[in-house]
Amino acid sequence: MTYLGAHLSSSGGFYKMGQAALVIGANTLQCFVRNPRGAKAKKIDPPDLARLRALMEEHGFGPIVAHAPYIMNPCSKDEGIRALAAEMMEGDLALMEHLPGNYYNFHPGSHVGQGVEAGCRQIANMLDRVVRPELQTTVLLETMAGKGSEIGGRFQELRTILDMASCSGRLGVCLDTCHVSDGGYDIGNDLDGVLEEFDKTVGLSRLKAVHVNDSMNPPGSRKDRHALIGQGTIGLEAIVRVLTHPALRGLPFLLETPTDDAGHGAEIAMLREAIGE
Ligand code: FE
Ligand code: FE
Ligand code: ZN
Repeated sequence: MTYLGAHLSSSGGFYKMGQAALVIGANTLQCFVRNPRGAKAKKIDPPDLARLRALMEEHGFGPIVAHAPYIMNPCSKDEGIRALAAEMMEGDLALMEHLPGNYYNFHPGSHVGQGVEAGCRQIANMLDRVVRPELQTTVLLETMAGKGSEIGGRFQELRTILDMASCSGRLGVCLDTCHVSDGGYDIGNDLDGVLEEFDKTVGLSRLKAVHVNDSMNPPGSRKDRHALIGQGTIGLEAIVRVLTHPALRGLPFLLETPTDDAGHGAEIAMLREAIGE
């Protein structure tokens, strides 16, 4: 069965989140591990995390994805904001050690006028500080829409970070269908071409997770406005091609469409039916 889930609204602990995933027919999930808009970390609760681990095992979950807070910007001009990014990632990765073998996804950040090269250098430096060899979590760079001075709107920018980081061997990439389309890669009409380009630049072996979103805007718009599945410019058929593409088999697919857990449940049911599950 395809690992299909959604970004869940987190409240009441990790085991509860696992239960919420089951309710919506998911066998993977994505969540924040701290307040997405604030820096404050949640207290680590090992028994709660152990119960989620057991639930995942019992129900045949694929790997899950923790999403870094949105305010994290590892390539800010401001040294204090960069330091905070490292501190947050370090704390989140400490929590993730209680969920070994899963993923931690983050937005590379916005270089705010410093330039792509300098921004990539700062991101790589942070990763080399916090991605320790003993970690049991794979850290993922997310493909971005390229809004403003966002890094990661071009596959080549992710390649540059991977080349600059000494810890590169333990990094992966999460592909967001809306971001990639908005970034100018026409995943709606030419999935094979986009994956070929990704493979040439980044390498398909780096691809560990997929964010499944439709887009409100046409390819190349650099807007980053997610749409419900089938209600955007990518379309249901193209999303089904993503879910069933042989090169993406076995990856966790996570919805981040603009709806709540119940809405994601309806999308999961629709998509499972469309792919014949
Ligand atoms: Fe994201
Ligand atoms: Fe995303
Ligand atoms: Zn987005």
